[in-house]
Amino acid sequence: MIYIRKGEEPREFQEFRNQADSEYGNMPGKVKKALLAALCTEQHGLCAYCTCRIPEKAAEKRLQEPMTIEHFYPQHPGNGKRQAAMDLKYKNMHAVCSGNRGCGNEKALTCDASKKDKVIQLNPCNETIISQLYYQYDGTIRAKDQKLDNELKFALNLNCRERSLPQNRKAVLTEIQRSCLGILLSSRNAQSTGFLTQKSYAFLRYGHRMAKEKSGR
Ligand SMILES: [Zn+2]
Repeated sequence: MIYIRKGEEPREFQEFRNQADSEYGNMPGKVKKALLAALCTEQHGLCAYCTCRIPEKAAEKRLQEPMTIEHFYPQHPGNGKRQAAMDLKYKNMHAVCSGNRGCGNEKALTCDASKKDKVIQLNPCNETIISQLYYQYDGTIRAKDQKLDNELKFALNLNCRERSLPQNRKAVLTEIQRSCLGILLSSRNAQSTGFLTQKSYAFLRYGHRMAKEKSGR
């Protein structure tokens, strides 16, 4: 998950919302399309929860909706009081991936497909909450706070191995590590020609040692 800074709502959506009797359920398709495009753009084309690329490639037949609109505060909360005003509140909406809907395996559902109508605290728009999240070397995403950690694990299922989420993160981490090691090693060569300060050389040695330990070599 990454922090989402909400932008301006699209004009089409604003005009629809200002109409009498407007509800999420009777939103015209073209307004929904503009809304989804604006949400996707402000999220840099990433799912608000698992950060996979959206819209997903519709290669599989089951992928009828390569991205959808998620209400962070649910439209029909399972354990909370319904707030109709949140249905058309732009700040309550995110673009999300399919969450593996239609895969036939409940354990492989992620994101809003797993969250369903639960009310959770893990809001991607809350910078304080997002700053508490961290990644382990095996690619799992964690939070120090137990409640948030449980929401990652159970409500959103963001460590879903059936969907290879930790495996994919680990692959990215390994790639970054390799790139960093390459930069560090080329910097070490620069050090021999006198371009590095003593401090940066200490950092270089520390980074090199860390990379070796992490890669088990
Ligand atoms: Zn997702």
